[in-house]
Amino acid sequence: TVRTRIAPSPTGDPHVGTAYIALFNLCFARRHGGQFLLRIEDTDRARSTPESEQAIFDSLRWLGIEWDEGPDVGGDKGPYRQSERGDLYREYAEQLVREGHAFHCYRTAEELETLRAARRARGGFTALKPAELALPAAEVEKRRAAGEPFVIRMKVPQEEGPCPIDDMLRGRVELDWGQVDAQILLKSDGLPTYHLANVVDDHLMGITHVIRGEEWINSAPKHKLLYEYFGWEMPQLCHLPLLRNPDKSKLSKRKNPTSILYYRRMGFLPEALLNYLGRMGWSMPDEREKFTLAEMIDNFDIQRVSLGGPIFDVEKLSWLNGLWIREDLSVEQLADRLQDWAFNRENLLRVLPHTQSRMETLSDFAPLAAFLAAGTLPLAEADFAGLKLEPDQLKQVLQFALWDLEALREWEREQIFAALKALAGRLDIKLKDFLVPLFVAVAGTTASFSVMDSMVLLGPDMTRARLRHALK
Ligand code: ATP
Ligand code: GLU
Repeated sequence: TVRTRIAPSPTGDPHVGTAYIALFNLCFARRHGGQFLLRIEDTDRARSTPESEQAIFDSLRWLGIEWDEGPDVGGDKGPYRQSERGDLYREYAEQLVREGHAFHCYRTAEELETLRAARRARGGFTALKPAELALPAAEVEKRRAAGEPFVIRMKVPQEEGPCPIDDMLRGRVELDWGQVDAQILLKSDGLPTYHLANVVDDHLMGITHVIRGEEWINSAPKHKLLYEYFGWEMPQLCHLPLLRNPDKSKLSKRKNPTSILYYRRMGFLPEALLNYLGRMGWSMPDEREKFTLAEMIDNFDIQRVSLGGPIFDVEKLSWLNGLWIREDLSVEQLADRLQDWAFNRENLLRVLPHTQSRMETLSDFAPLAAFLAAGTLPLAEADFAGLKLEPDQLKQVLQFALWDLEALREWEREQIFAALKALAGRLDIKLKDFLVPLFVAVAGTTASFSVMDSMVLLGPDMTRARLRHALK
């Protein structure tokens, strides 16, 4: 039976790209009467967080994407979190070493740099190959005895030459072994890299079709070789085109909001966003624009995916969302949606602590908090007039703040404050004068509660979107 999976890494906000790939995996599995799994790839211990994992579950479920097996629902091929499968990867890596398909590599960072420089000087392909990484046996013994750290690397063909990969959408693609380095399989801390963990898990979890973003196609030769080394049948591969910004570049949070949470905050309906993701490179046989998940599953044919990069255009999404609001919801249903979306108790309890001290009547709440529920704020140049900054400085403040906030890993009041304070210092602007334009950009006015609290409540994507909007 068909088994597909989505394998997100919990390292940030849940990405619309993850939902898009999940949707296609789900439709393929359901169409063929199979199962769809969710596996958490959290081997990057420094970047993975439980909050991010939870946000993946919540936002996929919000969209209506359900999995048959996964960390939170169980299943008999678990655990479904790679951090809980460490021993397994170590055993398989050592098996490859015993069988001569991998080796312990004691090379130091400096040595690797020298080897790479030599490669570059020689011209041609730059991937590091087993032969040059190898150390004399006596040297290996010495380093081992001294307890020096090592990694396990896979053996790969030493020379250039074609490596054919079969892709469900592209047919046979020729990649070049020259590009393939002696990939690290197990890091010196004993944790696996993506390549080893992914192959081991896809095999043990009985995955039959790997449907993922095309950014991974260059890794396929390594995976193919690993399947051969283990003597396992390789799943069929299908690389989906990546989502793009309207300017055709890869969709990225520098240009467009990419977090599912942002689209939820903006007031998009989950069925409309899912519908729109279903239109990314795919269409219904009758080309209709609006369809439900059930309709998509009934009509799903992966061969209908077109490889031209699908453009994720927020204006098109808004148009489609409007159709859903106007054509598919009764007034009662719309009332429920609004209540769930912004006027639910949980949300009010988050916002009220900031407004209560400024309220005399209940009606004071609306003007104080309206900016939180507004999508994009209608800003005019005049809103920034009368600030203590020159126009150039103003632009600088907004742009640099945007960049620094993009780099923030944690969206907490303290972190935001520290980043902004440091930036004000670097620009040599008094903190108070520096914060005012940011305030106007995120809240539309300075007559509200503190700018840091506003940013926390708005969340990273909405905050960034507003700063970007203010820069236009
Ligand atoms: P950004 O450029 O916005 O930082 P990223 O590539 O760093 O994006 P990640 O956080 O690494 O994004 O990716 C999260 C998930 O989203 C991954 O599973 C990745 O495959 C998927 N993804 C990222 N960008 C796209 C895209 N343009 N189209 C489809 N999927 C994407
Ligand atoms: N963890 C990888 C990602 O998030 C999974 C890629 C795959 O599907 O193989 O993109």
